[in-house]
Amino acid sequence: MEKEGALVDFGKNLISTLSKRNIVVRFPVPIDRTYRDTWNIIGTHHGHPVRCAQESETTVIHGEIVGVDFSLCFGCEKCIEACPTHVFDLILDESGQPVVDPIREEDCILCLVCEIVCPVAAINVKSEGGSDDTLNSLLEGTRG
Ligand code: ZN
Repeated sequence: MEKEGALVDFGKNLISTLSKRNIVVRFPVPIDRTYRDTWNIIGTHHGHPVRCAQESETTVIHGEIVGVDFSLCFGCEKCIEACPTHVFDLILDESGQPVVDPIREEDCILCLVCEIVCPVAAINVKSEGGSDDTLNSLLEGTRG
């Protein structure tokens, strides 16, 4: 059982950890947390909206309450294992790559565990009140 402390240590440490595991880091930039306001809705999927970034129509985010950036997600299933309400399912995207879809996002209890376990920061849970601050302080706390 590996220590998972590196998962929230964004930046070079994470990238080198992933490289040692031969995981290709495609976009080491976290999900755009403003996507609900700034991205265009291009369709729906299992009842949740699908949005794409204006500058890249191939970059899509599925979900309204729980957003998953399909260009970041590589289907590691850590969120599936961690989610207490089974929000996620593994599906194949248009290019046949495994990705995690927030197929039951209406069951989300906003616990944010998926955001914390995701090694590529592909998930953003809609914030209510201070949850953004809570997560940020958790992330900040790991830097010492
Ligand atoms: Zn979907």
